[in-house]
Amino acid sequence: RIGTAALAVQVVGSNWPKPHYTLLVTGLCRFQILQLLKEKPYPVAEVQQLDRLEQFTNGHKSEEELGELSEQFYKYAVQLVEMLDMSVPAVAKLRRLLDNLPREALPDILTSIIRTTNQEKLQILDAVRLEERFKMTIPLLVRQIEGLKLLQKTRKSKQDDDKRVVAIRPNRRISHGSVTEDEEEEEDHDDVVMLEKKIRTSSMSEQALKVCLKEIKRLKKMPQSMPEYALTRNYLELMVELPWNKSTKDRLEIRAARIVLDNDHYAMEKLKKRVLEYLAVRQLKNNLKGPILCFVGPPGVGKTSVGRSIAKTLGREFHRIALGGVCDQSDIRGHRRTYVGSMPGRIINGLKTVGVNNPVFLLDEVDKLAKSLQGDPAAALLEVLDPEQNHSFTDHYLNVAFDLSQVLFIATANTTATIPPALLDRMEVIQVPGYTQEEKIEIAHRHLIPKQLELHGLTPQQIQIPQVTTLGIITRYTREAGVRALDRKLGAICRAVAVKVAEGQHKEAKPDRAEVGEGEDCKEHITEDAKPESISDTADLALPPEMPILIDFHALKDILGPPMYDMEVSERLNQPGVAIGLAWTPLGGEIMFVEASRMDGEGQLTLTGQLGDVMKESAHLAISWLRSNAKRYQLTNASGSFDLLDNTDIHLHFPAGAVTKDGPSAGVTIVTCLASLFSGRLVCSDVAMTGEITLRGLVLPVGGIKDKVLAAHRAGLKRIIIPQRNEKDLEEIAAPVRQDLTFVLAGCLDEVLNAAFDGGFAVKARLEHLNSKL
Ligand code: ADP
Repeated sequence: RIGTAALAVQVVGSNWPKPHYTLLVTGLCRFQILQLLKEKPYPVAEVQQLDRLEQFTNGHKSEEELGELSEQFYKYAVQLVEMLDMSVPAVAKLRRLLDNLPREALPDILTSIIRTTNQEKLQILDAVRLEERFKMTIPLLVRQIEGLKLLQKTRKSKQDDDKRVVAIRPNRRISHGSVTEDEEEEEDHDDVVMLEKKIRTSSMSEQALKVCLKEIKRLKKMPQSMPEYALTRNYLELMVELPWNKSTKDRLEIRAARIVLDNDHYAMEKLKKRVLEYLAVRQLKNNLKGPILCFVGPPGVGKTSVGRSIAKTLGREFHRIALGGVCDQSDIRGHRRTYVGSMPGRIINGLKTVGVNNPVFLLDEVDKLAKSLQGDPAAALLEVLDPEQNHSFTDHYLNVAFDLSQVLFIATANTTATIPPALLDRMEVIQVPGYTQEEKIEIAHRHLIPKQLELHGLTPQQIQIPQVTTLGIITRYTREAGVRALDRKLGAICRAVAVKVAEGQHKEAKPDRAEVGEGEDCKEHITEDAKPESISDTADLALPPEMPILIDFHALKDILGPPMYDMEVSERLNQPGVAIGLAWTPLGGEIMFVEASRMDGEGQLTLTGQLGDVMKESAHLAISWLRSNAKRYQLTNASGSFDLLDNTDIHLHFPAGAVTKDGPSAGVTIVTCLASLFSGRLVCSDVAMTGEITLRGLVLPVGGIKDKVLAAHRAGLKRIIIPQRNEKDLEEIAAPVRQDLTFVLAGCLDEVLNAAFDGGFAVKARLEHLNSKL
């Protein structure tokens, strides 16, 4: 029935992260409840003041009586305060208070400062008699002093500042049993002091240091319950963690770099050459303000892994920043700290992760940056990539400049078409084309298979994948420019074999397993994998010694299922009105079937297959050219008229109807397809073609020849018609591929048609002319 009267000085509340209030009160006196007047909505009572009355403060008698007790108390209090760090202003103030305050006020004040449980605090408040209060508080003081002594002992035995705090925490808990809020607060205070120390000893820039010191000053004054407290602390911790001045030493030696690149990657000579040139310039001239390298090519051709190798040759840390789908500029530059949940951008985050200021940053998929209402991330990247500006890159979250000039940026993309021009301008594009089948086989055997074996805990003694099998996987289970799907398929094979090997090891103890080996399936009988010495009673069955599981076509079919891609080309060309074109996509080259059909109608042209405007125009061009040349080639519609659209509708379809297609390069294919339709002749089943056409029947050059040729080669085609002026592009194609294919260089459509049909596509008009002469 005893309480404390107090004056509420301040009420602070917040709803975030959860609702809470902090009440600041000044204690006035103790009182006793005489009579409760009402309880609701809040209690009202008649009370009687118990202390801070005249007789207590001025009563000489009581002071004399208490003299010894209060002296003892004072001594302990002084001892305790002197054990604390006097450089902290609050401690110094407390020391002064001890001398200036009336003694009888001390038990109350000290109890609120030292570590006590709520229970103990209430007991002291309940103690009305001063003598009793002194007596009760002294043991608490002694306990605190002992605790501090123990703490100092532990502290001395540890050298490292940071570890100290961690080590002490458990001790505290043990010595006091329960964890109170006070305890946490003190821990926090320790942390803040530690943080300040870290800030002062860190090597951050002068500007950053100034900001941090200002923030820590604010932090010290801030009640811990304020939401901003956590924000500020996170900020300061990030600032301390950032590698302001920490870097790895470059160990660049061009010869070693060449070896690393060659060891890690097969083929890609052009790319490796350019990378070595780049590194050589770096070696000669320490601070390179050159363009950013940007590797452009289909997926899975090793763009990322070359980036990783570059980091390896330089001895630098590597960090990949995936930019695909990033549409908010604060992803790059961070949010301002005023936002709830604000974060630094990916660049600063990456630097924090790697912990040095000169890593290799791989900006993956720069062509997939998007714009949105939240700003243009590409514009933010400009600042990051510009060597003239990036020494003072300012992240919105940090709000101080960070020097990015030591970071080596490399970008990757599937196509340059969607990279914003300003960004593209700062980069040097290196094309990474797809691989030929031969290159893929080599890559598989030199790199992918060993990597997969290691990943699955297999050894070459347990599994063998011959080159024909690899070729089978490449041609029948994958159709891609890179090697990613191939890698996945090899992974699937390794998984299946791992199961067999593990089963074999498990079952070797069971004798009946020996019978299961079935003749032609070689992997079966090898799955026994039996170690003869471990089989006691069946040793005489003479199991084969450990032999590798051979992956042949049977095994391939078992593991990967039926082939996904058949050599369907010839099947689809068994009727007039179909031709094979070559298309370029960001994922590499592809073959494309163009189909045409005609029906009675009013001369309309229908185009399907999600075509872009340029492609639609190509189709119109093709029809116009054929109509104007119908007589020359004796092409007629169903009713025998040379006006091909007379009473006839034409429908052109480009399969894979869901994929948007555009570009002029399908022109020759459409002409061939329509010529086949109207002449009723079949296009050769092993011919593919590409080229832009003009109204007068010329064939103009197109892009992406290398990727297109590789795609045709993958699909097993033999003859490729390309524009004459693309001849120079053939030099880039590997010799084995070139040997497998016949190239027809066409300058005009007559040459295209001649090459596309078996026995040529003769101009009939001249023949007629001759006839008439005879
Ligand atoms: P990208 O970034 O071009 O999409 P990745 O770099 O992720 O492709 O490559 C996919 C996988 O293929 C990686 O495991 C890589 O090691 C492997 N790879 C690609 N090209 C080669 C090559 N020329 N030599 C060795 N491994 C390669």
